[in-house]
Amino acid sequence: MSRLSQRITPAPAAPDTAPEIASQRIAIARPYMPATAAILPYLESIEQSGWYSNFGPVNQALEARLATRFKDGTRIVTVSNATLGLTACLKALKLPQGSLCALPSWTFVATAHAVTAAGLTPWFVDVREDTWMLDPETFAAQLKHAPGPVSAVIPVCAFGQRLDLDAWTAYDRNSPIRVVIDAAAAYDTATTADIPVVVSLHATKALGAGEGGFVAGPRDFVERVRSITAFGFYGTRESLRLGTNAKISEYTAAVAMAAMDNWTATRQTYQRVAQRLRILLMNAPVAFQDGWGLDWITSVCVAHVGDGRSAEVAEALAAQGIDTRMWWGMGCHTSRAFAEFPRTPLPVTERLAASTLGLPYFAAMGDEDIIRLATVLGHYLR
Ligand SMILES: *Cc1c(COP(=O)(O)O)cnc(C)c1O
Repeated sequence: MSRLSQRITPAPAAPDTAPEIASQRIAIARPYMPATAAILPYLESIEQSGWYSNFGPVNQALEARLATRFKDGTRIVTVSNATLGLTACLKALKLPQGSLCALPSWTFVATAHAVTAAGLTPWFVDVREDTWMLDPETFAAQLKHAPGPVSAVIPVCAFGQRLDLDAWTAYDRNSPIRVVIDAAAAYDTATTADIPVVVSLHATKALGAGEGGFVAGPRDFVERVRSITAFGFYGTRESLRLGTNAKISEYTAAVAMAAMDNWTATRQTYQRVAQRLRILLMNAPVAFQDGWGLDWITSVCVAHVGDGRSAEVAEALAAQGIDTRMWWGMGCHTSRAFAEFPRTPLPVTERLAASTLGLPYFAAMGDEDIIRLATVLGHYLR
């Protein structure tokens, strides 16, 4: 340990350079947002149109542009965040109030909040060990032990990982249980939507607009969601159904358009950092998500750092000025807010929580930081 700290601890600083020491901490994440100059033309177009919200021209352009990422016939509606997008989807499905909505406990708490906000009861289920996600077979096996009628299931794209959407679409078609995909972190991989798919445009996600998101899906369904996000209005000022306000303003749409203009470069930048990390950690016992930073990108790096070792590794990195994050805590079911909700045994979720760790990763991560992270982590784990 002392040899290690000698090698990576910065040289003792003179008292007047103290702030530099602080800046040498490696942050866990940094939003990668479009430059103001890139947003400006869209802001000017808003000023010219005088249309500031309510599905204005910039939002219309954004929805049309997002739709081009999906196959013909897929509709998009923007939403103020993915949490409300998930709730709106569940409401649009008109599920029996109080019925169970299954979700993996290996997710961000937003998924469970979306379920309760739709008047449903979260039922926490376990994920597959290899993909960290729920698939129809794993779900069907757990469904036999459901504590009541299950009306819906929300598979989650783990940290943006590609989910087998065809398998879930088939499940949706062939079972009485409706499927909504939480693809909040999966802007890059969510490109089919025969069933509802919800993506976040939060600043911390791959394509950031600040706050925001969108729902992709079949036309009629998405138009129902649109009505729910706009007071139940649809073409008239009469509330046709119960709804809320989950629209985005034209300003948010402007930032999202600028972010999309820059998407190819953003993607390449994330890939470059991921590939550097992969190469530098090639001989260390660190396992990244399958295809992470290669065939798909996301804004976080979550790695398997050894069975039961996440807390210990986090502490060792913290001592060297490197921030880490257990992005999903010990699993969503362990949050106090969800204590009373039913769950199956969750051994895989518990193992993942104890063995994986969010490592510093951001598009603007310099080579110095990448090398330092890899050196400290590699030495500690070997
Ligand atoms: C970020 C995230 C959400 C919430 O998205 P918001 O747009 O912030 O509401 C939901 N689910 C998962 C899995 C997420 O990563």
